[in-house]
Amino acid sequence: MSTQTSNSPLVQLRSVTKTYTMGEVEVRAVRGVTLNIDRGEFVAIMGASGSGKSTLMNILGCLDRPTSGTYTLDGVAVADLSRKELAKLRNNKLGFVFQNFSLLARTSALENVELPMFYSYPLVSLRAQRQRAMQALDKVGLGDRYRYHSSQLSGGQQQRIAIARALVNRPQLVLADEPTGNLDTRTSAEVMGLFQELNESGITVIMVTHELDIAAYCKRQVVMRDGSVVSDTQKENRRIAIQEVDRLDHEKQKAKLA
Ligand code: ADP
Ligand code: MG
Repeated sequence: MSTQTSNSPLVQLRSVTKTYTMGEVEVRAVRGVTLNIDRGEFVAIMGASGSGKSTLMNILGCLDRPTSGTYTLDGVAVADLSRKELAKLRNNKLGFVFQNFSLLARTSALENVELPMFYSYPLVSLRAQRQRAMQALDKVGLGDRYRYHSSQLSGGQQQRIAIARALVNRPQLVLADEPTGNLDTRTSAEVMGLFQELNESGITVIMVTHELDIAAYCKRQVVMRDGSVVSDTQKENRRIAIQEVDRLDHEKQKAKLA
């Protein structure tokens, strides 16, 4: 696993396909995607429901293997790795954020954030785990809520906990599948502000969304249709989340006074 060249793209997909076979029926979810993503990018993967976005993300996250084609992550050909090596790579290099937050219920925010470190290699001492989890919680602005259970937190707060959990092993790449899908406009803008901040700190972010408003915060937009990439554009004037939060608050204030 030591073949990485830091000037090669972080993510390289070559003619990647994924076909699900369900009895007699074949579903060609991804149909030949070739894509490079460099370190420091912030990419939105867009497209209608069923266009193959989540399937592609599962491949990028090494949660699923392509039917054909190759995936190279940080210079490593993912297909060549054993299950154990794959688990290690996932744990050390990748962070995951999901639409439904995927936090453990009846478990504190702190313990949720500590969880990925139980599987990390080399092992992290319990004291260092606690310290790192607290740092991650501080980073997402929820250091004071570390004892709270998920059910005691708002949707936006739960997603911020999930982001802290994704960060705790210091990933190079964060993969987020519809992370604002269950959040209102202002909370979405706040969460996007967090992703923009992470990205500014050097973490590469790939985010699935079917909302144009959300994709507007990203630096690059890749659109899928029927399992293929149909457009791939760099955004010149991307939306800045902290400005958007201010604007929304200002509008609300104005509406109150009117
Ligand atoms: P999106 O995330 O863009 O909505 P998906 O990647 O979830 O799209 O799905 C793409 C296509 O693959 C859809 O037709 C879906 O029904 C199918 N599909 C996704 N996952 C599976 C699976 N595990 N088994 C069979 N078909 C699947
Ligand atoms: Mg999906």
